Amino acid sequence: MNPEKSKPDCIFCRIASGEIPAKILYKDDEVFAFPDINPLTPVHILVLPVKHIASLAEMKDNETPLVGKMVKVANRLAREQGIAKSGYRLTINSGADAGQLVPHLHIHLMGGRRLDWKH
Ligand code: 5GP
Ligand code: ZN
Repeated sequence: MNPEKSKPDCIFCRIASGEIPAKILYKDDEVFAFPDINPLTPVHILVLPVKHIASLAEMKDNETPLVGKMVKVANRLAREQGIAKSGYRLTINSGADAGQLVPHLHIHLMGGRRLDWKH
């Protein structure tokens, strides 16, 4: 499936294809990562599947192993960014009540400062 063709208006698919520039910190066939444009923490990176999946709620059961791969990449980036020991948070927002703004599944990797629970 060509994500460009199926979801031509998705900003994160356009970043995946290189159409919209971003500092790509990691990329393989399935997962890619780049810094959030509006960082909430000193380290704030988005980790995403290359394949367009709109949200956790839209994810098929047979696609969920992809989340494990995304976590593996997030852990690697946390080590590279020097926050593995100090601590970090992984967040996935799914849907409106969770505040999901971009409908392409992504993990927020956040760290570099102390985070209050539920903020
Ligand atoms: P959500 O609210 O959907 O969980 O998170 C979307 C995130 O994507 C936000 O933190 C927002 O700052 C980030 N974002 C939106 N558009 C862009 C963009 O064009 N480039 C980058 N690097 N980040 C973006
Ligand atoms: Zn997309």
